[in-house]
Amino acid sequence: MTVEVDAIRTDNRERILVVDDSETNLLLLTSILQLDGYEIETVQSGPEALQEAWDRLPDLVLLDIMMPEMSGLEVCRILKSDARTSDVPIIFLTALGDVPDRVAGLEVGGDDYIAKPFHPDELRARIRAALRTKQARDQLRRERESLASQAVTDPLTGVYNRRMLETRLTEEVTRSRRYGHRLTCLMLDLDHFKRINDQHGHPTGDAMLRQFAILTQSCLRGSDVLARYGGEEFVILVTETGLEGATTTAEKVRRTIEDHCFQGSEGQALRMTTSIGVAELLSEETPEKVLARADKALYEAKRTGRNRVVCA
Ligand code: GH3
Ligand code: MG
Ligand code: MG
Repeated sequence: MTVEVDAIRTDNRERILVVDDSETNLLLLTSILQLDGYEIETVQSGPEALQEAWDRLPDLVLLDIMMPEMSGLEVCRILKSDARTSDVPIIFLTALGDVPDRVAGLEVGGDDYIAKPFHPDELRARIRAALRTKQARDQLRRERESLASQAVTDPLTGVYNRRMLETRLTEEVTRSRRYGHRLTCLMLDLDHFKRINDQHGHPTGDAMLRQFAILTQSCLRGSDVLARYGGEEFVILVTETGLEGATTTAEKVRRTIEDHCFQGSEGQALRMTTSIGVAELLSEETPEKVLARADKALYEAKRTGRNRVVCA
């Protein structure tokens, strides 16, 4: 029981990498920091510090400057210029009164310094301050990444939204012109989807849309683009592929959906089909035009009975 609690705590503790060539200093620093509940990793040279930092990304590095093999300044410069470790705060340990070292430390990207001999309380306070700054920065970065992904993805299915589709389509049209590659658009619309909502409720409709997106994605290559175009309509850009190849892809999607046993929000087994229109980009054709032709082919698939693939 005690062991388990300890194991959980170990996972959440902040990890500090302490780098000093003097074993006495390492022992002293470790004894101070362990009281605050940090997980401490110690190494005695610059090369070991780099290896350790890259292997097990620490939350903070306490770095001695004067070390025989590689100076702390060099270690800092390398860590700060490497994308994996550039965000890890570095606090230098410098000899008291050594102003040039401190200046140099901050100039190579160090976040702070502590003069030796130091007071344990000051060491603790500076470490807490550096960790707080890092947490705030990490939080901001996560928020920024989340906003960026919200702007391009559909929240229900996680695939690209219509805006991103338009961007990607324009890019793919440009690319295929430049390199002479073929490009084919598929327009998909779920058959009688309104009935699913009417008979089983909106949450089940949502669950079907999510499963549809996952299944469809599984039929595509990594370079193909799947997007939710609107309600129960999706678009696929089949890259570097002409009408024949893309029709095969469309047929694979259609059959996969037809054969799949979907699950409603209450676990009920449901069936569904999809109609697909296929149009290959013609020379001189605009992105809007090729989409419109795929849409027209889709309309034809609906008109002639649904659950089918029709080429423009
Ligand atoms: P058809 O075979 O002609 O395409 O018939 P349909 O019923 O699929 O077409 P219709 O355009 O009449 O209805 C589309 C339905 O899709 C109606 C709408 O409520 C539903 N729908 C659109 N977006 C969502 C969504 O995000 N969630 C759910 N649950 N339903 C949606
Ligand atoms: Mg429909
Ligand atoms: Mg529709």
